[in-house]
Amino acid sequence: MIGRGAPVTVVGAGIAGSWTALLLAEAGVPVELCDRGDGTGGTSHWAGGMLAPDCESDGAEPIVVRLGRRSLDLWSRHLPPTPMNGSLVVSHPRDGGDLDRFARQTGGHEPADAERVAELEPALAGRFGRGLFFPREGHVEPRAALPALHAKLREAGGTLRFGEAVDPASASGPVVDCRGMGARDAMADLRGVKGETVLIETGEVALSRPVRLMHPRWPLYVIPRAGNRFLIGATSLESDDLSGVSVRSALELMTAAYTLHPAFGEARIVEIGTALRPAFPDNAPRVEVAGTRIAVNGLFRHGFLVAPALAEIVTAFVTDGVRDNEVMRWS
Ligand SMILES: Cc1cc2nc3c(=O)[nH]c(=O)nc-3n(C[C@H](O)[C@H](O)[C@H](O)COP(=O)(O)OP(=O)(O)OC[C@H]3O[C@@H](n4cnc5c(N)ncnc54)[C@H](O)[C@@H]3O)c2cc1C
Repeated sequence: MIGRGAPVTVVGAGIAGSWTALLLAEAGVPVELCDRGDGTGGTSHWAGGMLAPDCESDGAEPIVVRLGRRSLDLWSRHLPPTPMNGSLVVSHPRDGGDLDRFARQTGGHEPADAERVAELEPALAGRFGRGLFFPREGHVEPRAALPALHAKLREAGGTLRFGEAVDPASASGPVVDCRGMGARDAMADLRGVKGETVLIETGEVALSRPVRLMHPRWPLYVIPRAGNRFLIGATSLESDDLSGVSVRSALELMTAAYTLHPAFGEARIVEIGTALRPAFPDNAPRVEVAGTRIAVNGLFRHGFLVAPALAEIVTAFVTDGVRDNEVMRWS
């Protein structure tokens, strides 16, 4: 057990480090959160921010669903403006078989006929005859949520330092390594899974929640952002090439939005982005403990979904020595 009195350095101010530092500070641990950049250099800056444990139960490890359900409570408790108004999944008639399969693989949904789709998202009235509504899900805007977590960290007495690179291996006191892909030198089985997104802007369509569109290859979605913006995501490619976004990916993403609503065809492209999801071979997150060094990594495509619950596990271990054997590994 490290205990409440020892100052802890958290390295990496992405979603894993930001939540970890906040919960440690709120538990009374003196904590310093350091990031080598300005807070926009990690994967978290590019994420969709969906908090969707039920949708993600299609294909994700059961631990992701467990951590995700717990995290929804933590998001609501710590950042009460977090919208918890569910997710909508729709399909074109030709992809109806995929929707049936998705319904069988997931739980926590209600069927949504054309009338219900229109009630939930009036902009989609008359466009989709079938869908699924997942009422117990939420979403955050990553570029607002991270600064909000940092403000709460300061309120709780923690310190945040940008522009400060730290090597966790040479830190003298307790350290929590939340470097995401930056920890690849220390974690041989960590890989990057490339995700590409397009951010667009239009005043012609309004959505109030993430809308997923059944697609044979990727989980495609459109997420409403502040200022009439919409994030279209995301590809999932076994590649760590961050040199750019392919024409094919951009076309597929923009076509998906266009088929959701033709008015997206007139939208302005604000940004085309790409980032690497840090993943272990089983695509499940892990907390590794070696003495007073703890590493939180492998959040894959669920960082926003699972980070609060992982932070809670780390905090219980630091303050009271509590072990979660499903997530924690010792070396
Ligand atoms: C396109 C896309 C869409 C996604 N959508 C979702 C979604 O809808 N919902 C969801 O839950 N998840 C989503 N994800 C996954 C999520 O973004 C990741 O799981 C998460 O961002 C990983 O967070 P992290 O804190 O581990 O790493 P990062 O966000 O990369 O943070 C690591 C930080 O460490 C810092 N750092 C690195 N080395 C050092 C060092 N030596 N010293 C100091 N600082 C250092 C970096 O600057 C960085 O800020 C998505 C990912 C992508 C790519």
